[in-house]
Amino acid sequence: MLSANREVKKAVEAYWTDKITADELTKAASEVKKYNWTNLKAKGVDFIPSGDFTLYDHVLDHSAAFNVIPARYTGFNLSPLDVYFAMGRGRQAGGVDVPASEMKKWFDSNYHYVVPELSEATEFKLNFNKAVEEYNEAKAEGVITRPVVLGPISYLVLAKADRNASAGFKPISLLEKILPIYKQLLTELKASGAEWVQVDEPVLVMDVAAGLAKEYATAYSALAPLSPKIILATYYGRLDSNLEYAAKLPVAGLHIDLDREPGQLDATVTAAKAAGLVLSLGFVSGRNVWKNDFLTSVKLGQKAVSELGQSQVIVATSSSLLHIPVTLESEKKLTAEQKDWFSFALEKASEVATLAAILSGSQDARVSASLEANKKSIEARRKFEATSDDAVRKRVAAITDADIHRKSLFPKRMEAQRSLDLPKFPTTTIGSFPQTKEIRSARLKLGKGEITTEQYEEFIKKEIELVVRFQEKVGLDLLVHGEPERNDMVQYFGEQLNGFVFTQNAWVQSYGSRYVRPPIIVSDVSRTSPMTVKWSSYAQSLTKKPMKGMLTGPVTILNWSFPRADISKELQSRQLALALRDEVVDLEKAGIRAIQVDEPAIREGLPLRRVDWDNYLRWAVDTFKLATAGVTDATQTHSHFCYSDFNDIFPSIQRLDADVISIEASKSDMKLLAAFKEFGYSNEIGPGVYDIHSPRVPSVQEIKDRIASMLGLIPDNMLFINPDCGLKTRGWKETEAALANVVAAAKWARQTY
Ligand code: GLN
Ligand code: ZN
Repeated sequence: MLSANREVKKAVEAYWTDKITADELTKAASEVKKYNWTNLKAKGVDFIPSGDFTLYDHVLDHSAAFNVIPARYTGFNLSPLDVYFAMGRGRQAGGVDVPASEMKKWFDSNYHYVVPELSEATEFKLNFNKAVEEYNEAKAEGVITRPVVLGPISYLVLAKADRNASAGFKPISLLEKILPIYKQLLTELKASGAEWVQVDEPVLVMDVAAGLAKEYATAYSALAPLSPKIILATYYGRLDSNLEYAAKLPVAGLHIDLDREPGQLDATVTAAKAAGLVLSLGFVSGRNVWKNDFLTSVKLGQKAVSELGQSQVIVATSSSLLHIPVTLESEKKLTAEQKDWFSFALEKASEVATLAAILSGSQDARVSASLEANKKSIEARRKFEATSDDAVRKRVAAITDADIHRKSLFPKRMEAQRSLDLPKFPTTTIGSFPQTKEIRSARLKLGKGEITTEQYEEFIKKEIELVVRFQEKVGLDLLVHGEPERNDMVQYFGEQLNGFVFTQNAWVQSYGSRYVRPPIIVSDVSRTSPMTVKWSSYAQSLTKKPMKGMLTGPVTILNWSFPRADISKELQSRQLALALRDEVVDLEKAGIRAIQVDEPAIREGLPLRRVDWDNYLRWAVDTFKLATAGVTDATQTHSHFCYSDFNDIFPSIQRLDADVISIEASKSDMKLLAAFKEFGYSNEIGPGVYDIHSPRVPSVQEIKDRIASMLGLIPDNMLFINPDCGLKTRGWKETEAALANVVAAAKWARQTY
C-alpha cells in the first residue's frame, strides 16, 4: 500500500481527533487506493493487488472481517470502525476504557501486526468482504486487479489463544471452523468476476509449516474448486522441504522470494513444472531500496522460462511493498548519483514491468533502453561499492578475541562498580524523557534555519538540566540526560556516522499510524567525532549522582536501517560496533561511569529458520560485545531490550555480558523471571515495574507487589528498579507521578529486604 505523503496516517489521526468524519476518512482512503491502482497500472504492472489497503493493519482487517473481535471491545455501542480502531490502539473516552490488543513483529521485520485472539468458543462470521469491495472499487476506476487475502493457515498460525481458551489450545485447531468463511469469501470473489486471487501463506517459509502439510492440503483442496485461480504467495524466506507438499496443493500458481533466497529457484522450477503451476518470480526486493540488477534477474528468469514456458512465468516484487517507501520522486536532497542507486515502490513497479517485458522477448525500444540504463547504473554502483574505507576494513580485519571480552569476569567487575555508590535496588530509567512539543518544534526550527545551532544547543541544555533536576528531586539513583537531542534512536546516530544516506520522505509503516524513516547504509561506516559525549558530560556536570551514557547498539542500528546488499550484515555490524566502541571509550574518558547500549532489535533480527539462528546470534552478540568491551571493570555497561520473549535466546543474552540489562516485564507475569532464574542468568537485571505504553500511573502498592514477587526470583543484590522502556512518548505529568511512585516503592524495598 502506498501513500506518498502518509495521507492515510494523516487522515486516520484526523479522524481520531474528531477533525474529520468517518465518511471523510473513507473518501481519503479511496483517494489513496486510486493513487495506488492507477500508478501501478501506468507503470505497466499486469497483476495489480487490491484488498491490501488498510487504515491500521492488514491482519487486523482480517480479524474485523472474520468477526474475531474480543468481547472487551463490544457492548459499548461503538461503530464497527471505532471497534476496529479500539482493537488496534485501545480506547479511553466517553466512559470506555479498553487497552489495545497485543502487537507482534511481523516475521523478521520492524512492522507490527495486531495479533488475532482465538479460542474454542470463537464463532467466525464474514462481516464484510474486503477483497470483493476493493476489486469492484478498482474496477470502477478502470483497473482490473488481483485481490490479496491472508491465507487461512498463516492467519491461524499468527494468532494466539485468548483468555477463554483451554490450556493447550492451538489456534490451528480452528481450521475446519474458519474454512467456511474463506469459502464464502472466495466464492463471492469469483462471482464478482475476479480471475485470480493471491492468497498469502508466508508461514510456508517457516519451520512450523513442516508439520502442517495435512492442514495445507485440507484447506486448499476445500478452497481451490470454488475460488478464482489461486496464486499461493510465500515471501521473506525459502520453502525448503515445505516445497514438496506446497507445490502439490491444488492451486494454479506459486510465488517465491528470490531476493532473499535466490537459491530456491531451481528446485521450485522443477516442482512447478511437475505440478503444472504458474511460477511468480519475486526478483525485485520488497525489503530493501536498491535497484534491481536486471542482468542477474533476467538470467535466472530465463532459466524458468525455458523450463516452464513464457505463459507460466510471472515477474513480481519479492513481497508486498509494505516495507518500502513510495517514490524517489519525493526526494529532493539525494544527489543524482545516489538517486541512481535506489528504487522505491513506484520505481520497483517499473522494474517489474520491464523485467517481464524483457523475459517475454520484447523488442520494444523503450525496454532495451531501460535495460541499457539499468546496466549503466548497476555498473556505477558496483564501482562506488568497490571504493572502501581502507582504515575501517583494516581495523575490522584486526579485531581479536580479546577485543570482545571485558578485562575481568562479572563478579570482579561488580566489585569494582561499587565505586558508583548506588544503593541497594538502584532506581533508574531507560533513557528518554518526554519528547515535548517544544522539543520537536525547536528541532523543526533548526531544520528550517529559523534558529541557529547555538540557540538549539542552548535549548537542549536547558531540557537536559530540567530532566536532571527532576531526577534529583524525585530521588532516582542512576540518572540519564533524557535524550532531548534525538529525533530517533537510529537516525540520530546514522546522521553523525559516515556511510549513511538520509531521505526526506522515505516513510515506512511501523505500526498503525506510526511511520519511521530508516536511514540507508551505502558505504563503510565510521565515526568522525564523538556523538553524545558533549550531552552526557554536560548532564554529569550538573549532578553528583552518576549519569548513564546512552547509545543505540550496532545490531539495532543495522536492523532498523536499509542495509547494504553488497557486503554481509555481519561486516556492517562490526563496522558499526567499532564506531560505537570509540564512543563508549570516549564517554568513559569524559567521566561517565555507566553506559547503556540499547539493543531492542536483536530478537526481531532472528532468521526465520532455526538452522540460521546460531550464526546470526554469534555475530550479533559478538558485535555488541565489541562495542562495549573497551571499558575498565569499574564502568558499568547496561543494555535494554523492549520485549519479553527471551525463549531460546537466554544463552545469547547471557553471552552479551552486559553488567545490567533492563527488560520489558510489567505486562508478563513472573514466568519471565522464573525462566531467567531457571536458566541461571548471572548478571544484574532491571525488569520493568510498569508499562510505559499507557498514560496510566501505577500505584505505589502495585509496584511494591511487583518488586516483592521479583525478589522471589532474583537475588536482592542483582535487582535494578526501572520502567519497561523509555518515556519519550509520555507526558510530563504522568511521568512525574509514576517515577515518584517507583522511588517510593524502592525505598520501601530497601527497608523491607
Ligand atoms: N534509550 C531509549 C529510550 O529510552 C530506548 C528506546 C527503545 O528501547 N526502543 O528511548
Ligand atoms: Zn525499550
